[in-house]
Amino acid sequence: MTTEVAHLVPYDEAVSRYEPVIGLETHVELGTVTKMFCGCPTTFGLPPNSAVCPVCLGLPGSLPVANRAAIEYTIRIGLALNCSIAAWCRFARKNYFYPDMPKNFQISQYDEPLCTNGWLDVTVDGQSVRVGIERVHLEEDTGKSLHVGGATGRIHGAEYSLVDYNRAGIPLVEVVTKPIAGTGELAPTVARAYVTQLRDLLRALRVSDVRMEEGSLRCDVNTSLTPRGAAEWGTRTETKNVNSLRSVERAVRFEIERQAGLLDAGLRVVQETRHFHEDTGSTTAGRSKEEAQDYRYFPEPDLVPVAPPASWVDEILASLPELPAARLARLQADWGLSDADMTWLRNAGAIDLVDQTVAAGASPAEASKWWLGELAREANKRGVELADLPITPEQVARVSALVRDGTLNDKLARQALDAVLAGEGQPDDVVAARGLAVVSDDSALIAAVDAAIAASPDVAAKIRDGKLNAVGALMGQVMAATKGRADPQRVRELILQRLT
Ligand SMILES: [Zn+2]
Repeated sequence: MTTEVAHLVPYDEAVSRYEPVIGLETHVELGTVTKMFCGCPTTFGLPPNSAVCPVCLGLPGSLPVANRAAIEYTIRIGLALNCSIAAWCRFARKNYFYPDMPKNFQISQYDEPLCTNGWLDVTVDGQSVRVGIERVHLEEDTGKSLHVGGATGRIHGAEYSLVDYNRAGIPLVEVVTKPIAGTGELAPTVARAYVTQLRDLLRALRVSDVRMEEGSLRCDVNTSLTPRGAAEWGTRTETKNVNSLRSVERAVRFEIERQAGLLDAGLRVVQETRHFHEDTGSTTAGRSKEEAQDYRYFPEPDLVPVAPPASWVDEILASLPELPAARLARLQADWGLSDADMTWLRNAGAIDLVDQTVAAGASPAEASKWWLGELAREANKRGVELADLPITPEQVARVSALVRDGTLNDKLARQALDAVLAGEGQPDDVVAARGLAVVSDDSALIAAVDAAIAASPDVAAKIRDGKLNAVGALMGQVMAATKGRADPQRVRELILQRLT
Protein backbone atom coordinates (compact mmCIF):
# COMPACT_ATOMS: atom_id res chain seq x y z
CA MET A 1 0.00 0.00 0.00
CA THR A 2 1.21 3.45 -0.80
CA THR A 3 1.87 5.83 2.04
CA GLU A 4 1.68 8.80 -0.31
CA VAL A 5 -1.52 10.26 -1.72
CA ALA A 6 -2.79 11.21 -5.12
CA HIS A 7 -4.39 14.44 -3.99
CA LEU A 8 -4.20 16.82 -1.03
CA VAL A 9 -7.46 18.02 0.48
CA PRO A 10 -7.55 21.83 0.63
CA TYR A 11 -6.73 22.87 4.20
CA ASP A 12 -10.02 24.54 5.15
CA GLU A 13 -12.00 21.58 3.88
CA ALA A 14 -9.74 19.09 5.69
CA VAL A 15 -10.14 20.77 9.08
CA SER A 16 -13.89 21.19 8.57
CA ARG A 17 -14.28 17.40 8.52
CA TYR A 18 -11.30 16.14 10.54
CA GLU A 19 -9.94 17.05 13.96
CA PRO A 20 -6.13 17.21 14.11
CA VAL A 21 -4.23 16.00 17.17
CA ILE A 22 -0.59 17.08 17.35
CA GLY A 23 2.36 16.36 19.60
CA LEU A 24 5.85 17.85 19.68
CA GLU A 25 9.17 16.39 20.73
CA THR A 26 11.77 19.11 20.96
CA HIS A 27 15.48 18.38 21.29
CA VAL A 28 17.58 21.09 22.90
CA GLU A 29 21.37 21.01 23.01
CA LEU A 30 22.41 22.40 26.38
CA GLY A 31 24.92 25.22 26.51
CA THR A 32 27.23 23.55 29.03
CA VAL A 33 30.96 24.14 28.64
CA THR A 34 31.73 20.42 28.42
CA LYS A 35 29.96 17.31 27.13
CA MET A 36 27.48 15.15 29.04
CA PHE A 37 29.81 12.37 30.17
CA CYS A 38 33.36 13.65 29.49
CA GLY A 39 35.41 16.83 29.57
CA CYS A 40 35.43 17.54 25.81
CA PRO A 41 34.39 21.09 24.81
CA THR A 42 30.94 21.68 23.25
CA THR A 43 32.07 24.60 21.06
CA PHE A 44 30.20 24.75 17.72
CA GLY A 45 32.16 24.79 14.46
CA LEU A 46 35.48 23.23 15.57
CA PRO A 47 37.42 21.21 12.95
CA PRO A 48 35.80 17.75 12.53
CA ASN A 49 36.74 15.18 15.18
CA SER A 50 38.89 17.63 17.16
CA ALA A 51 36.63 17.64 20.26
CA VAL A 52 36.63 13.92 21.05
CA CYS A 53 38.10 11.57 23.64
CA PRO A 54 37.88 7.85 24.53
CA VAL A 55 34.59 8.39 26.44
CA CYS A 56 32.60 10.16 23.71
CA LEU A 57 34.14 7.88 21.05
CA GLY A 58 32.92 4.89 23.08
CA LEU A 59 36.33 3.23 23.26
CA PRO A 60 36.44 0.03 25.32
CA GLY A 61 37.26 0.57 28.98
CA SER A 62 36.29 4.24 29.09
CA LEU A 63 33.78 5.27 31.76
CA PRO A 64 31.24 8.12 31.68
CA VAL A 65 30.75 10.62 34.51
CA ALA A 66 27.53 12.71 34.45
CA ASN A 67 27.84 16.48 34.01
CA ARG A 68 26.36 18.22 37.07
CA ALA A 69 25.64 21.43 35.15
CA ALA A 70 23.59 19.48 32.57
CA ILE A 71 21.49 17.92 35.33
CA GLU A 72 20.99 21.37 36.89
CA TYR A 73 19.96 22.86 33.52
CA THR A 74 17.47 20.02 32.97
CA ILE A 75 15.92 20.60 36.41
CA ARG A 76 15.76 24.32 35.61
CA ILE A 77 13.84 23.53 32.40
CA GLY A 78 11.54 21.10 34.24
CA LEU A 79 10.72 23.63 36.97
CA ALA A 80 10.04 26.40 34.45
CA LEU A 81 7.64 23.99 32.69
CA ASN A 82 5.81 23.28 35.97
CA CYS A 83 7.03 19.65 36.08
CA SER A 84 7.58 17.34 39.04
CA ILE A 85 11.28 16.63 39.56
CA ALA A 86 12.17 12.99 40.25
CA ALA A 87 13.86 12.45 43.60
CA TRP A 88 15.62 9.43 42.12
CA CYS A 89 16.01 8.31 38.52
CA ARG A 90 18.42 6.51 36.25
CA PHE A 91 19.99 6.80 32.85
CA ALA A 92 19.26 3.96 30.42
CA ARG A 93 21.02 2.47 27.42
CA LYS A 94 19.08 2.77 24.17
CA ASN A 95 20.60 0.16 21.88
CA TYR A 96 20.70 0.68 18.13
CA PHE A 97 23.28 0.78 15.42
CA TYR A 98 23.96 3.98 13.54
CA PRO A 99 27.33 5.12 12.23
CA ASP A 100 27.16 8.51 13.93
CA MET A 101 26.71 6.83 17.31
CA PRO A 102 30.12 5.40 18.18
CA LYS A 103 29.11 3.24 21.17
CA ASN A 104 26.23 1.55 19.31
CA PHE A 105 24.01 2.66 22.14
CA GLN A 106 22.89 6.06 23.32
CA ILE A 107 22.78 6.97 27.00
CA SER A 108 19.28 8.34 27.48
CA GLN A 109 16.44 8.12 29.97
CA TYR A 110 13.62 5.66 29.45
CA ASP A 111 10.93 4.96 32.05
CA GLU A 112 12.55 7.17 34.72
CA PRO A 113 12.75 10.69 33.27
CA LEU A 114 14.10 13.50 35.45
CA CYS A 115 11.03 15.75 34.98
CA THR A 116 7.39 14.77 34.37
CA ASN A 117 3.87 16.10 34.06
CA GLY A 118 4.07 19.86 33.54
CA TRP A 119 2.63 22.46 31.21
CA LEU A 120 3.37 25.56 29.16
CA ASP A 121 0.69 28.18 28.51
CA VAL A 122 0.99 29.33 24.91
CA THR A 123 -0.60 32.49 23.52
CA VAL A 124 -2.16 32.17 20.07
CA ASP A 125 -4.10 35.09 18.57
CA GLY A 126 -4.50 36.61 22.03
CA GLN A 127 -5.89 33.34 23.45
CA SER A 128 -4.14 31.08 25.91
CA VAL A 129 -3.74 27.37 25.10
CA ARG A 130 -2.35 25.11 27.84
CA VAL A 131 0.07 22.58 26.34
CA GLY A 132 0.66 19.60 28.63
CA ILE A 133 4.26 18.44 29.07
CA GLU A 134 4.62 14.67 29.34
CA ARG A 135 8.29 14.55 30.24
CA VAL A 136 11.65 16.29 30.07
CA HIS A 137 14.61 13.94 29.97
CA LEU A 138 18.34 14.14 29.52
CA GLU A 139 20.42 12.20 26.98
CA GLU A 140 23.54 12.58 24.85
CA ASP A 141 23.58 13.82 21.28
CA THR A 142 24.93 11.74 18.40
CA GLY A 143 27.64 12.67 15.91
CA LYS A 144 26.90 14.00 12.47
CA SER A 145 27.11 12.23 9.09
CA LEU A 146 27.84 14.07 5.88
CA HIS A 147 26.87 12.20 2.70
CA VAL A 148 29.02 13.37 -0.20
CA GLY A 149 28.41 13.08 -3.93
CA GLY A 150 24.63 12.63 -4.07
CA ALA A 151 22.14 15.20 -5.33
CA THR A 152 20.02 15.33 -2.18
CA GLY A 153 22.60 15.22 0.61
CA ARG A 154 20.96 11.99 1.79
CA ILE A 155 22.73 8.67 1.85
CA HIS A 156 20.96 7.37 -1.25
CA GLY A 157 23.11 8.10 -4.28
CA ALA A 158 26.05 9.37 -2.21
CA GLU A 159 29.58 8.25 -3.15
CA TYR A 160 30.87 8.19 0.41
CA SER A 161 30.01 9.42 3.89
CA LEU A 162 32.02 11.34 6.48
CA VAL A 163 31.35 11.22 10.20
CA ASP A 164 32.15 14.02 12.67
CA TYR A 165 31.98 13.00 16.34
CA ASN A 166 32.37 16.51 17.82
CA ARG A 167 28.64 16.58 18.57
CA ALA A 168 28.60 13.05 20.02
CA GLY A 169 28.04 13.32 23.76
CA ILE A 170 26.79 16.92 23.89
CA PRO A 171 24.01 17.04 26.49
CA LEU A 172 20.63 16.96 24.86
CA VAL A 173 17.31 17.55 26.58
CA GLU A 174 14.13 16.20 25.05
CA VAL A 175 10.87 17.98 25.91
CA VAL A 176 7.83 15.86 25.00
CA THR A 177 4.31 17.28 25.00
CA LYS A 178 1.16 15.38 25.78
CA PRO A 179 -1.18 15.06 22.77
CA ILE A 180 -2.62 18.48 21.91
CA ALA A 181 -6.26 18.07 20.83
CA GLY A 182 -9.17 20.42 20.31
CA THR A 183 -7.29 23.23 18.57
CA GLY A 184 -9.00 22.55 15.22
CA GLU A 185 -7.83 24.71 12.34
CA LEU A 186 -5.36 26.47 14.65
CA ALA A 187 -3.27 23.27 15.09
CA PRO A 188 -0.37 24.39 12.83
CA THR A 189 -0.31 27.84 14.47
CA VAL A 190 -0.40 26.30 17.96
CA ALA A 191 2.54 24.04 17.01
CA ARG A 192 4.57 27.03 15.86
CA ALA A 193 3.59 29.17 18.86
CA TYR A 194 4.54 26.37 21.26
CA VAL A 195 8.02 25.95 19.77
CA THR A 196 8.51 29.73 19.63
CA GLN A 197 7.51 30.21 23.25
CA LEU A 198 9.47 27.17 24.41
CA ARG A 199 12.52 28.65 22.65
CA ASP A 200 11.96 32.02 24.38
CA LEU A 201 11.66 30.22 27.72
CA LEU A 202 14.88 28.24 27.17
CA ARG A 203 16.68 31.41 26.17
CA ALA A 204 15.48 33.21 29.31
CA LEU A 205 16.68 30.25 31.39
CA ARG A 206 20.14 30.59 29.77
CA VAL A 207 20.45 26.83 29.27
CA SER A 208 20.96 26.82 25.48
CA ASP A 209 21.69 29.19 22.61
CA VAL A 210 18.53 27.70 20.96
CA ARG A 211 19.84 28.30 17.44
CA MET A 212 17.61 26.26 15.14
CA GLU A 213 19.87 26.89 12.14
CA GLU A 214 22.83 25.33 13.98
CA GLY A 215 20.71 22.40 15.16
CA SER A 216 20.77 23.27 18.86
CA LEU A 217 16.95 23.24 18.80
CA ARG A 218 15.17 20.69 16.60
CA CYS A 219 11.68 19.35 16.51
CA ASP A 220 9.84 16.13 15.71
CA VAL A 221 6.23 16.88 14.86
CA ASN A 222 3.50 14.26 15.37
CA THR A 223 0.21 14.68 13.53
CA SER A 224 -2.93 12.56 13.34
CA LEU A 225 -6.46 13.14 12.09
CA THR A 226 -9.72 11.82 13.33
CA PRO A 227 -13.17 12.37 11.76
CA ARG A 228 -15.02 15.09 13.69
CA GLY A 229 -17.07 13.56 16.49
CA ALA A 230 -15.21 10.23 16.46
CA ALA A 231 -14.12 8.89 19.83
CA GLU A 232 -10.75 7.41 18.87
CA TRP A 233 -7.71 9.25 17.61
CA GLY A 234 -6.25 8.38 14.25
CA THR A 235 -2.84 6.91 13.43
CA ARG A 236 -0.06 9.47 13.78
CA THR A 237 2.97 10.21 11.67
CA GLU A 238 6.20 11.70 13.00
CA THR A 239 7.92 14.33 10.86
CA LYS A 240 11.57 14.32 11.98
CA ASN A 241 14.12 17.06 12.57
CA VAL A 242 12.11 20.07 11.49
CA ASN A 243 14.52 22.94 11.95
CA SER A 244 12.70 26.25 11.61
CA LEU A 245 9.61 27.73 13.24
CA ARG A 246 7.97 28.26 9.88
CA SER A 247 8.65 24.65 8.89
CA VAL A 248 6.96 23.37 12.07
CA GLU A 249 3.77 25.14 11.00
CA ARG A 250 4.04 24.02 7.37
CA ALA A 251 4.77 20.39 8.30
CA VAL A 252 1.59 20.12 10.40
CA ARG A 253 -0.44 21.80 7.70
CA PHE A 254 0.84 19.52 4.97
CA GLU A 255 0.27 16.35 7.01
CA ILE A 256 -3.35 17.44 7.66
CA GLU A 257 -3.95 17.94 3.92
CA ARG A 258 -2.21 14.66 3.03
CA GLN A 259 -3.82 12.48 5.69
CA ALA A 260 -7.28 13.89 4.87
CA GLY A 261 -6.69 12.79 1.26
CA LEU A 262 -5.84 9.24 2.38
CA LEU A 263 -8.82 8.98 4.72
CA ASP A 264 -11.19 10.41 2.08
CA ALA A 265 -10.01 7.72 -0.35
CA GLY A 266 -10.72 5.02 2.22
CA LEU A 267 -6.99 4.35 2.74
CA ARG A 268 -5.29 4.19 6.09
CA VAL A 269 -2.55 6.41 7.46
CA VAL A 270 0.62 4.40 8.01
CA GLN A 271 2.50 4.94 11.26
CA GLU A 272 5.92 6.08 10.10
CA THR A 273 8.57 8.76 10.34
CA ARG A 274 8.54 11.34 7.56
CA HIS A 275 11.01 13.89 6.20
CA PHE A 276 10.05 17.54 5.66
CA HIS A 277 11.24 19.30 2.51
CA GLU A 278 11.84 23.03 2.85
CA ASP A 279 11.63 23.71 -0.88
CA THR A 280 8.20 22.19 -1.49
CA GLY A 281 6.72 22.34 2.02
CA SER A 282 5.84 18.65 1.70
CA THR A 283 6.75 15.50 3.62
CA THR A 284 7.83 12.12 2.29
CA ALA A 285 7.89 8.70 3.90
CA GLY A 286 10.89 7.60 5.94
CA ARG A 287 11.14 4.60 8.21
CA SER A 288 7.94 2.65 8.95
CA LYS A 289 7.14 2.35 12.63
CA GLU A 290 4.47 -0.32 12.15
CA GLU A 291 6.76 -2.80 13.82
CA ALA A 292 8.07 -1.01 16.86
CA GLN A 293 11.85 -1.07 16.99
CA ASP A 294 13.16 -2.87 20.05
CA TYR A 295 15.78 -0.67 21.62
CA ARG A 296 16.43 -3.18 24.44
CA TYR A 297 16.54 -0.43 27.04
CA PHE A 298 18.20 -1.29 30.33
CA PRO A 299 19.58 0.84 33.19
CA GLU A 300 23.04 2.20 32.35
CA PRO A 301 25.38 0.12 34.52
CA ASP A 302 28.31 2.57 34.33
CA LEU A 303 26.48 5.50 35.97
CA VAL A 304 25.10 5.98 39.46
CA PRO A 305 21.41 6.99 39.77
CA VAL A 306 20.57 10.70 39.73
CA ALA A 307 19.09 11.69 43.09
CA PRO A 308 18.86 15.49 43.33
CA PRO A 309 18.34 16.52 46.99
CA ALA A 310 15.13 18.50 47.57
CA SER A 311 17.20 21.36 48.98
CA TRP A 312 19.12 21.63 45.69
CA VAL A 313 15.89 21.61 43.65
CA ASP A 314 14.50 24.37 45.94
CA GLU A 315 17.68 26.37 45.40
CA ILE A 316 17.35 26.03 41.61
CA LEU A 317 13.67 27.05 41.81
CA ALA A 318 14.56 30.14 43.84
CA SER A 319 17.23 31.10 41.31
CA LEU A 320 14.98 30.95 38.22
CA PRO A 321 15.02 34.25 36.32
CA GLU A 322 11.85 36.15 35.46
CA LEU A 323 10.13 33.94 32.85
CA PRO A 324 8.93 35.31 29.50
CA ALA A 325 5.18 35.25 30.29
CA ALA A 326 5.66 37.22 33.52
CA ARG A 327 8.08 39.60 31.85
CA LEU A 328 5.70 40.29 28.95
CA ALA A 329 2.84 41.01 31.35
CA ARG A 330 5.06 43.41 33.32
CA LEU A 331 6.35 45.20 30.19
CA GLN A 332 2.85 45.52 28.73
CA ALA A 333 1.64 47.17 31.94
CA ASP A 334 4.72 49.45 32.09
CA TRP A 335 4.43 50.45 28.46
CA GLY A 336 0.64 50.78 28.40
CA LEU A 337 0.37 48.90 25.09
CA SER A 338 -2.61 46.89 23.78
CA ASP A 339 -2.56 43.09 23.32
CA ALA A 340 -2.34 43.66 19.56
CA ASP A 341 0.70 45.94 19.89
CA MET A 342 2.44 43.43 22.17
CA THR A 343 1.73 40.57 19.75
CA TRP A 344 3.12 42.67 16.95
CA LEU A 345 6.32 43.49 18.88
CA ARG A 346 6.70 39.88 19.89
CA ASN A 347 6.25 38.49 16.38
CA ALA A 348 8.81 41.00 15.12
CA GLY A 349 11.30 39.87 17.80
CA ALA A 350 11.37 43.47 19.05
CA ILE A 351 10.54 43.10 22.75
CA ASP A 352 14.15 43.18 23.97
CA LEU A 353 15.07 45.97 21.55
CA VAL A 354 12.18 48.16 22.66
CA ASP A 355 12.97 47.39 26.31
CA GLN A 356 16.60 48.46 25.83
CA THR A 357 15.60 51.55 23.83
CA VAL A 358 13.25 52.60 26.63
CA ALA A 359 16.02 51.95 29.15
CA ALA A 360 18.20 54.31 27.08
CA GLY A 361 15.68 57.12 27.48
CA ALA A 362 13.06 56.82 24.71
CA SER A 363 9.35 56.57 25.48
CA PRO A 364 7.71 53.16 24.77
CA ALA A 365 5.66 54.77 21.97
CA GLU A 366 8.77 56.26 20.31
CA ALA A 367 10.75 53.05 20.68
CA SER A 368 8.04 50.82 19.20
CA LYS A 369 7.40 53.33 16.41
CA TRP A 370 10.99 53.23 15.14
CA TRP A 371 11.59 49.49 15.60
CA LEU A 372 8.28 48.47 14.01
CA GLY A 373 8.38 51.14 11.31
CA GLU A 374 11.55 52.33 9.61
CA LEU A 375 13.84 49.67 11.14
CA ALA A 376 11.46 46.72 10.49
CA ARG A 377 11.27 47.83 6.84
CA GLU A 378 15.06 47.98 6.63
CA ALA A 379 15.46 44.54 8.26
CA ASN A 380 12.93 43.13 5.84
CA LYS A 381 14.74 44.70 2.89
CA ARG A 382 18.06 43.22 4.03
CA GLY A 383 16.47 39.86 4.92
CA VAL A 384 17.85 39.92 8.49
CA GLU A 385 16.39 39.90 12.00
CA LEU A 386 15.80 43.27 13.65
CA ALA A 387 18.43 42.45 16.27
CA ASP A 388 21.01 41.91 13.52
CA LEU A 389 20.69 45.42 12.07
CA PRO A 390 23.89 47.47 12.61
CA ILE A 391 22.21 49.90 14.98
CA THR A 392 21.94 49.80 18.78
CA PRO A 393 18.95 50.59 21.02
CA GLU A 394 21.03 53.46 22.46
CA GLN A 395 21.42 54.97 18.98
CA VAL A 396 17.68 54.68 18.33
CA ALA A 397 16.99 56.34 21.69
CA ARG A 398 19.36 59.21 20.76
CA VAL A 399 17.54 59.79 17.44
CA SER A 400 14.24 59.84 19.37
CA ALA A 401 15.68 62.44 21.73
CA LEU A 402 16.73 64.60 18.76
CA VAL A 403 13.15 64.48 17.44
CA ARG A 404 11.76 65.31 20.88
CA ASP A 405 13.94 68.44 21.27
CA GLY A 406 13.05 69.65 17.75
CA THR A 407 16.51 69.12 16.20
CA LEU A 408 15.04 66.58 13.78
CA ASN A 409 11.61 66.05 12.27
CA ASP A 410 10.39 62.53 11.38
CA LYS A 411 11.70 62.68 7.85
CA LEU A 412 15.16 63.84 8.93
CA ALA A 413 15.16 61.24 11.70
CA ARG A 414 14.67 58.53 9.07
CA GLN A 415 17.65 59.90 7.16
CA ALA A 416 19.69 59.91 10.38
CA LEU A 417 18.77 56.25 11.02
CA ASP A 418 19.73 55.39 7.42
CA ALA A 419 23.11 57.05 7.93
CA VAL A 420 23.74 55.19 11.18
CA LEU A 421 22.76 51.92 9.46
CA ALA A 422 25.16 52.78 6.64
CA GLY A 423 27.96 52.92 9.21
CA GLU A 424 28.48 56.68 9.01
CA GLY A 425 28.77 57.07 12.79
CA GLN A 426 26.78 58.05 15.86
CA PRO A 427 23.45 59.95 15.48
CA ASP A 428 24.93 63.33 16.48
CA ASP A 429 27.84 62.87 14.06
CA VAL A 430 25.65 61.96 11.07
CA VAL A 431 23.27 64.86 11.78
CA ALA A 432 26.26 67.23 11.71
CA ALA A 433 27.99 65.58 8.74
CA ARG A 434 24.87 65.40 6.57
CA GLY A 435 23.49 68.75 7.76
CA LEU A 436 20.23 67.12 8.80
CA ALA A 437 19.11 69.45 11.61
CA VAL A 438 15.81 71.30 11.19
CA VAL A 439 16.22 74.92 10.04
CA SER A 440 14.89 76.77 13.06
CA ASP A 441 16.34 80.13 12.11
CA ASP A 442 13.44 82.25 10.78
CA SER A 443 15.62 84.53 8.65
CA ALA A 444 16.80 81.57 6.55
CA LEU A 445 13.22 80.37 6.18
CA ILE A 446 11.93 83.85 5.25
CA ALA A 447 14.54 84.07 2.52
CA ALA A 448 13.35 80.73 1.13
CA VAL A 449 9.68 81.80 1.38
CA ASP A 450 10.38 85.08 -0.45
CA ALA A 451 12.28 83.22 -3.17
CA ALA A 452 9.32 80.84 -3.64
CA ILE A 453 6.86 83.77 -3.85
CA ALA A 454 9.04 85.52 -6.40
CA ALA A 455 9.32 82.35 -8.48
CA SER A 456 5.53 81.77 -8.59
CA PRO A 457 3.76 85.14 -8.78
CA ASP A 458 0.51 83.54 -10.06
CA VAL A 459 0.30 81.20 -7.04
CA ALA A 460 1.06 84.13 -4.72
CA ALA A 461 -1.76 86.14 -6.36
CA LYS A 462 -4.26 83.32 -5.68
CA ILE A 463 -3.29 83.23 -2.02
CA ARG A 464 -3.66 87.02 -1.79
CA ASP A 465 -7.19 86.48 -3.22
CA GLY A 466 -7.94 84.14 -0.31
CA LYS A 467 -7.47 80.80 -2.11
CA LEU A 468 -5.62 79.21 0.80
CA ASN A 469 -5.32 75.71 -0.70
CA ALA A 470 -2.72 77.17 -3.03
CA VAL A 471 -0.37 77.47 -0.04
CA GLY A 472 0.66 73.84 -0.51
CA ALA A 473 2.44 74.59 -3.79
CA LEU A 474 4.63 77.26 -2.19
CA MET A 475 5.28 75.07 0.86
CA GLY A 476 6.50 72.31 -1.46
CA GLN A 477 9.02 74.71 -3.01
CA VAL A 478 10.29 75.88 0.39
CA MET A 479 10.61 72.28 1.67
CA ALA A 480 12.52 71.35 -1.50
CA ALA A 481 14.79 74.39 -1.17
CA THR A 482 15.60 73.47 2.45
CA LYS A 483 15.96 69.76 1.58
CA GLY A 484 13.14 68.85 3.98
CA ARG A 485 14.85 70.51 6.89
CA ALA A 486 12.13 73.11 7.59
CA ASP A 487 9.24 72.74 10.02
CA PRO A 488 6.21 72.63 7.64
CA GLN A 489 3.92 74.34 10.17
CA ARG A 490 6.31 77.28 10.51
CA VAL A 491 6.72 77.54 6.72
CA ARG A 492 2.94 77.76 6.31
CA GLU A 493 2.73 80.50 8.95
CA LEU A 494 5.46 82.51 7.26
CA ILE A 495 3.85 82.24 3.79
CA LEU A 496 0.52 83.43 5.17
CA GLN A 497 2.22 86.29 7.07
CA ARG A 498 3.87 87.49 3.86
CA LEU A 499 0.78 87.25 1.64
CA THR A 500 -2.31 88.00 3.76
ZN1 LIG B 1 34.87 13.33 25.05
